[in-house]
Amino acid sequence: MEVPYWLARKFPLDWVEPVESPWNVRGIWHALCMRIVDLLKANHRTVSFEFFPPKDDAGFTALFETIETLKPLGPSYVSVTYGAGGSTRRKTVDLVKRIKHEIGIESMAHLTCVGSTRDEIAEVLEDLKAGGMENVLPLRGDPPKGETEFKATPGGFRYASELVEFIRARHSFCLGAACYPERHPEAPSADADLDNLKRKVDAGADFLITQLFFDNNDFYRFRERAVAAGIQAPILAGIMPILSVSQIKRFTQMCGASLPDDLRRKIEGVEDDPEAVRQIGVYHATRQCEDLLQNGVPGIHFYTLNRSTATRAVYQSIKGLLTDESAA
Ligand SMILES: Cc1cc2nc3c(=O)[nH]c(=O)nc-3n(C[C@H](O)[C@H](O)[C@H](O)COP(=O)(O)OP(=O)(O)OC[C@H]3O[C@@H](n4cnc5c(N)ncnc54)[C@H](O)[C@@H]3O)c2cc1C
Repeated sequence: MEVPYWLARKFPLDWVEPVESPWNVRGIWHALCMRIVDLLKANHRTVSFEFFPPKDDAGFTALFETIETLKPLGPSYVSVTYGAGGSTRRKTVDLVKRIKHEIGIESMAHLTCVGSTRDEIAEVLEDLKAGGMENVLPLRGDPPKGETEFKATPGGFRYASELVEFIRARHSFCLGAACYPERHPEAPSADADLDNLKRKVDAGADFLITQLFFDNNDFYRFRERAVAAGIQAPILAGIMPILSVSQIKRFTQMCGASLPDDLRRKIEGVEDDPEAVRQIGVYHATRQCEDLLQNGVPGIHFYTLNRSTATRAVYQSIKGLLTDESAA
């Protein structure tokens, strides 16, 4: 359902501090706005949680518990990642439908170009549409396990911008897209990456979500350059509270994000104490979010890794700032 812009402005429901009840005013308002871009256009700051489809039944049970634990925080939406294998893809589509219709939280399916032809992607989109989904995050995708380079499938897409264009020509989904404050690892330069991002936005992306980053200055520099390049789509900050030293080193290496030296030293100093690492992670993510919200970020997207405790702890500290309507 599209909520008219004038209505969103007239009743800026974020004036009530969010409380932990599914019936809080922020939650109701965010439940009404099913297209993420409508919340953003009305300067409602979004908070979202990203999950990945679990491998087995036990993982699904645990994930649904996590989502139930996070639901009272009134997320604007949640998103579910898309893997390379056929069964993982099916799980993404099923999960977003269940989260939306059974749990009652707006959800967004990630969708990648990896290993799919246009016709196969068209089928997934029809499935999402038939399931009442309103938001999609089209991506190029990472190479499948064991491969180091992305190879376009014959009859498929080379870049996310092509997928965005394809969807725009056929559907009215609200579309997000990925962006990289420290540039995409394959991009020959930050400027080339920005040109490609502009192409993706011009093709029809409504808003952007950043890759994880740990130094807000990287985000601010990137935002400034994006605006100067004529990119007007809102840029949501992707935040990952650190849960383990080995895991975060693996992730940052994979996605090209850097871990500031002082933060690295701190977590390495307590590497053998998982709870201490988690506390440092929560503290750092909280300071990052506070600073971002004070500097006009329109939304925070948490990479939860299917866990609730750390994200919940960060949220508790920043919820007061979410009532501020001064999002840029
Ligand atoms: C918020 C978020 C969610 C994600 N979710 C998933 C997920 O669910 N599943 C998954 O597999 N991966 C996911 N990823 C990872 C993502 O798939 C990888 O980072 C991937 O390598 C790039 O995807 P993209 O959509 O940004 O690609 P693109 O925008 O296509 O960019 C990829 C590279 O190609 C370059 N490029 C783009 N257009 C052109 C052009 N026309 N000419 C030349 N070069 C060009 C870009 O500069 C960049 O270097 C996610 C990333 C983010 C930030």
